[in-house]
Amino acid sequence: MSIAPPPTAIRITPSAPVVRDLHGWRAKCLQRLIRMELPVPSSFAIGCDNVRMIAQGRRPPPAELSPIFDGSGLVSVRPSAVMPEWGGPGTVLNVGINDALHDKLAGRIGRANADAVYLSFVQSYAIHIARLDPDMFTQDGPDALAGALRCYRDEMDQPFPQDPAEQLSEVLRSMARAWDGPTARLLRQAKGAPPDAPLGLVVQEMALALGPGICGSGTIQFIDPVTGAPRVTGRFRGQRHGPTIGTGAETLYLTRDSRGPSLEETAPEIFADLVRFGIAARERLREEMQIEFVVTGGQISVIDADRVARGSRASVRIAVSLARDGIIPPNEALMRVEPRALADLLHHQVDPRAPRDVIARGIDASPGAATGRIVFSAAAAQSAHARGEPCILVRRETIPEDIRGMHASVGVLTERGGTTSHAAVIARGLGLPCIVGARAISIDARARTLRAGTRMLREGDEITIDGSSGEVLAGAAVLLPPALDDAFTQLMDWAADAGGLGVRANADTPEDAITARRFQAQGIGLCRTEHMFFDGERLPAMREMIFADSPEDRRLSLDRILPMQRQDFTRLFEIMAGLPVTIRLFDPPLHEFLPHDREGLRELAESLDLPLSDVTRRVEALTEFNPMLGMRGVRLGITVPEIYDMQARAIFEATVEASRKGDPVVPEIMIPLVSAMREVELVKTRIDAVAAAVRNQTRTDFTYRLGVMVETPRAALRAGDIAGQCTFLSFGTNDLTQMTYGLSRDDAGRFMGTYVGQGVYAEDPFHVLDQDGVGELLLIGVQRARAHKPGITLSVCGEHGGNPESIAFCHKAGLDYVSCSPFRVPVARLAAAQSAIRMDQGRIDP
Ligand code: PEP
Ligand code: MG
Repeated sequence: MSIAPPPTAIRITPSAPVVRDLHGWRAKCLQRLIRMELPVPSSFAIGCDNVRMIAQGRRPPPAELSPIFDGSGLVSVRPSAVMPEWGGPGTVLNVGINDALHDKLAGRIGRANADAVYLSFVQSYAIHIARLDPDMFTQDGPDALAGALRCYRDEMDQPFPQDPAEQLSEVLRSMARAWDGPTARLLRQAKGAPPDAPLGLVVQEMALALGPGICGSGTIQFIDPVTGAPRVTGRFRGQRHGPTIGTGAETLYLTRDSRGPSLEETAPEIFADLVRFGIAARERLREEMQIEFVVTGGQISVIDADRVARGSRASVRIAVSLARDGIIPPNEALMRVEPRALADLLHHQVDPRAPRDVIARGIDASPGAATGRIVFSAAAAQSAHARGEPCILVRRETIPEDIRGMHASVGVLTERGGTTSHAAVIARGLGLPCIVGARAISIDARARTLRAGTRMLREGDEITIDGSSGEVLAGAAVLLPPALDDAFTQLMDWAADAGGLGVRANADTPEDAITARRFQAQGIGLCRTEHMFFDGERLPAMREMIFADSPEDRRLSLDRILPMQRQDFTRLFEIMAGLPVTIRLFDPPLHEFLPHDREGLRELAESLDLPLSDVTRRVEALTEFNPMLGMRGVRLGITVPEIYDMQARAIFEATVEASRKGDPVVPEIMIPLVSAMREVELVKTRIDAVAAAVRNQTRTDFTYRLGVMVETPRAALRAGDIAGQCTFLSFGTNDLTQMTYGLSRDDAGRFMGTYVGQGVYAEDPFHVLDQDGVGELLLIGVQRARAHKPGITLSVCGEHGGNPESIAFCHKAGLDYVSCSPFRVPVARLAAAQSAIRMDQGRIDP
């Protein structure tokens, strides 16, 4: 016995078997509205399987379609994909109109209005279904309908179809086919739809928006889509529905408005009903909804409802207010906010409603927006800052000496670089909006000009950079201020309650540490100490140390730096008030501290009282072909041990001092760029000796924790025996990615766009952790370290620590915490909470 195929359409009733995955979100949403007893016109769902068959040419039997017209005789057809954001073909209105119905309608709503209904359907049918030339169907005026029908007949060699079931069948076929078009497919895949995403359709009896009394169509929502503040927005279009425009069409504001008449004044009872429906929909659908409605002679019909489209600020405020009103639980509020959205709340943002004059695009390296005058050097930035003028530092790429210029700027734009380039890392740390790798700009630092396409800008010209989108805008854009409001704080408190892996901050300065505390970081997971050596009096002492001939001389130079380092650490310990602080020992190659231009070398020779040739020779001797793989990190710690000795002493003396004044401090000292266990042994022996000496001298006992950065592939592979030497390991995934791929952090930006564009890499691996390769090394490291020392603390402190997808991976890998730039801490905390909630819900295996 063969099984009868399912009927083409099912009537949506409160108990009909309408399933979102089979009939799409719109059909399901309409069923919910019907269950709420809202005045929804009779509606039918055509399931995805049927739509697929229709697309393949299997026409639905007319006998199944005819009953759909039993009401007013007119229907609309709307797409109903599984997720609203996947879109779908445009809605078709007024299906079913023909000569007979037109005549009947003319009696009810007047001939001109009936003409408008018929004309609008003929035009849309001719253009979208019969695919005739749109230019032939632009008629208006009293003879327009006759003209359109004539045109159709002439072009198609047959009169306009009069059978409603035939019209509907053609509309369904056309919409089903449109869904399979390549553009539609690409668009929805960009929104996360799978390649074979199905489409359902909804057919609904039309409520007439044209006719006597109050008639029209509109939308209403109860929330501001940008801020999320309660506010009624929308429009009511009297005597109009989509492209169907009747006589006396007039648009009304919804609420009282000094600019013109409003629905609230003209029809207060309709307005009150809409507000009532809005409140009910919010509670029952557990979401802020936009309601689409039609008014026919004063009677409302709710024809559709959709989740209010919203910006990042609004997404936080809406989720929190739904949870505070008891409509959704706090954990669901946490799941509803995209972690990245929080980054927008921490900074200024270009107002999405304002016009944007985009002159170039680059990599969105640090979020937020800023407007300032262009400067091309750190010195110019500092002068502008001194004059109180906000400036944007524009460089080909930044170098360590630019840090003070970056401090003095409100934003940074570079022509080169990728997400972990110097400019990107420092800007994120400072919370400065930053765009890197804007390859379409070309800078002439001498002429102090910037060319972007055909536009030429000069130093002093005003630009806005939008570090959230990577767009460079000419002039001053309209900016929204940061929104660290009470909704944000509430969301963060719920995130803390949700648990999950810990979040610390990468903080190098007291300002960073204060920001870290403000965002409730659980400590400092990485303090990069090298920048401290670039400051005022330290740089000369550092250079003197580099030029010293003996360990004693080196120690003397470093002794000048010691009290300053001690002060740096004391301050950090005080701010963090007993929370863990991980200090990474000196990492960069020494040549970064030396000048490279002739003038700088001459000045150095003068200050060291040495001949220029001596200085030049020493500088050349320190030059390496591949400094990132050269004498840096622990290699320097072993070959020039006085630097680590000095740093260890500064850390311990600061520990004693800060513990005396406040909460006890247990410093964490971390060794960079380790690749062999013996390196750790050697450094540990010296640090232990320094600790003993400081204990003796200060007559104070203290402990410290020693850790290793796992940032070479070998360290990950040898994590077992390395773990035996220390109490924690932190994966430095920036260098680990660089070394695993053999890909320069600073130069990869040049081809990353091409690589990602051609699908060689799914994402920039410096931005999103490469789970297959670098991730595998990380898992090996975790497994070997824990096998050797089960209680060892494990973390990630590379830039990936602030990336939501990478955080979920770290959580799954069983890491104890991630550490990221202070301004990414809220994003990381939300991502960590979401990962914990998902794990609790059993959606990912622990
Ligand atoms: C790393 O390599 O991941 C890291 C955190 O260190 P840095 O970025 O300072 O090299
Ligand atoms: Mg590193």
